Amino acid sequence: GVRPLVAGNWKMNGLRGSEREFEAMLERARADRGADLMICPPATLLMRLSAIAGNGPIALGGQDCHAEVSGAHTGDLSAEMLADAGATAVILGHSERRQDHGETSAQVAAKVEAAWRAGLTAIVCVGETEAERDEGRAVEVVLGQLQGSVPEGATHETLVVAYEPVWAIGTGRTPTAEDVREMHSRQREGLKARFGKAGEAIRILYGGSVKPANAAELMAIANVDGALVGGASLKADDFMGIAAAY
Ligand code: 13P
Repeated sequence: GVRPLVAGNWKMNGLRGSEREFEAMLERARADRGADLMICPPATLLMRLSAIAGNGPIALGGQDCHAEVSGAHTGDLSAEMLADAGATAVILGHSERRQDHGETSAQVAAKVEAAWRAGLTAIVCVGETEAERDEGRAVEVVLGQLQGSVPEGATHETLVVAYEPVWAIGTGRTPTAEDVREMHSRQREGLKARFGKAGEAIRILYGGSVKPANAAELMAIANVDGALVGGASLKADDFMGIAAAY
């Protein structure tokens, strides 16, 4: 099977003091794990955490990147800069970026190309809003985002998909196991239809209110190949408690 990935998205959280929490995660991750582990800190911490992480068991990722290599784009970071700072992956198209910054799937696809250009794995986020689910459009919206946000040529090494229902993010609410199974299965079919055999090995993470108490149940669902964790990735106890599902 596919080796699962448990990735933490620190969002706009973390100052230098967070190094200690990361060190605690590293310490506990040295024991054999059944999953790949990753933390995506704010970019200001990438170089510091990278120096601490070394070649250890926790990889690092960015949370967004610009599509261009460099240039007059005040406040933006290129994929090359993230790679230079120690990232091996980057989250792209998170719902908070789609909402707060009006990112479209076409823009996300251009960022995925940039990530690949820099040698980074793209973690592409998709997910329906509560209104879209209530209208019975969840599958259509998610498959549309997947189609539009992922360029041709994706493989299990260059792409990770994260299914994050917007209404489950930071709310403590999660979809039923049956809804998760259905959504992941539909995405798997979509990936296989487009990428053939490679589509079978592309990891599809679940994200949205994952915590130690519900991780085992969520991670046991077919085609759930790991988790993208927000709030519960800020503390070593919570994050490693989720990783313990594997
Ligand atoms: P929470 O785990 O805080 O619900 O956030 C999920 C998320 O958005 C991860 O990218």
